Amino acid sequence: MSWEDKVRKVTPYTPGEQPRRTDIIKLNTNECPYPPSPKVAEAIAAFDEDRLRLYPDPAAADLVKALADHYQVDKDQVFVGVGSDDVLAMAFLTYFTAGKPILFSDVTYSFYDVWAELFGIPYKKCALKDDFSLDASDYLQDNGGIIIANPNAPTGLMADLGMIEKIVLANQDSVVIVDEAYVDFGGVSAIPLVEKYENLLVVQTFSKSRAMAGMRIGFAVGSKKLIAYLNDAKFSFNSYTMNHLTIACGKACVEDDLYFKEITGKIVATRERVKKEMAELGFKFPDSMTNFLFVTHPQIDAEELFLALKEEGIFVRYFKKPRIDQYLRVTIGTDAQMDALITFLKEYMKNRSFV
Ligand SMILES: *Cc1c(COP(=O)(O)O)cnc(C)c1O
Repeated sequence: MSWEDKVRKVTPYTPGEQPRRTDIIKLNTNECPYPPSPKVAEAIAAFDEDRLRLYPDPAAADLVKALADHYQVDKDQVFVGVGSDDVLAMAFLTYFTAGKPILFSDVTYSFYDVWAELFGIPYKKCALKDDFSLDASDYLQDNGGIIIANPNAPTGLMADLGMIEKIVLANQDSVVIVDEAYVDFGGVSAIPLVEKYENLLVVQTFSKSRAMAGMRIGFAVGSKKLIAYLNDAKFSFNSYTMNHLTIACGKACVEDDLYFKEITGKIVATRERVKKEMAELGFKFPDSMTNFLFVTHPQIDAEELFLALKEEGIFVRYFKKPRIDQYLRVTIGTDAQMDALITFLKEYMKNRSFV
């Protein structure tokens, strides 16, 4: 056996492109087009670099406390990590050990099957309906765990809380994770349900609605028992996941609720306007409750348009995958960025005499 036969081999997740160019309109990874809260800038200015000599607080208590206060739960019900990807990976490792298939949608966040493969967790993909909505009856079968992105990515659709509760209720013998990366753009969070269901973990991130993708902060809210198991796994892996500066910035960010409401409100307003304009151009899309639209056009090849947009310096996301290879996922940017997109699309279509 060669050393290479002894190596773990995995097919990694492919993140969206992060080009070095700054002169582009970047609508490809669902980042926030607005800066983080001014309170974050203050926290950075006030930061004493002498603290970097010391290890950070392994429990990230300041950030955990700020989140617990904000979401009105106990601090023992909150777990934080290096982006929600870190939180979700730890959750897969901790909760999905039964050896039975875990369940998730066929069209959803493409990291789920990557973690399942990495940790050797069997999984089964449940097909969304033709309109990409969730079929709750798929989640009534025996399983080793469940993960649902709600609102879903890359479709943008939200399942109502009643459906989520029905799934959690029917699966008291498994852990059900709800990934709410996009819930702050008009969605309804399942966080209040964690008081009622010990097996429910709700995961959120600072990357989209809190304008801090570059800082890497994610968190989970659940029952004390569920969070304790997650912490045990984390402390068996890497105690010091959150650094001093990140903890300080995260806390400052959560405490500035006014600014948070202002930027998410602006994005929702832009999204609703762009929905109308895209519809007028003949694009079809599920009714997004997120900071992106998942669009398709009956006469335009998605990959061709993706490349034409890129040529123009407008980056969007294209997935060459079954069911969605005629769709583009377009992040909602500033009004000016979306105007540039619409202007380009009108020109593109005029040149092809579609409109
Ligand atoms: C963006 C995203 C995440 C991960 O975000 P982090 O930057 O790691 O916090 C998780 N789930 C979904 C569905 C996402 O879209």
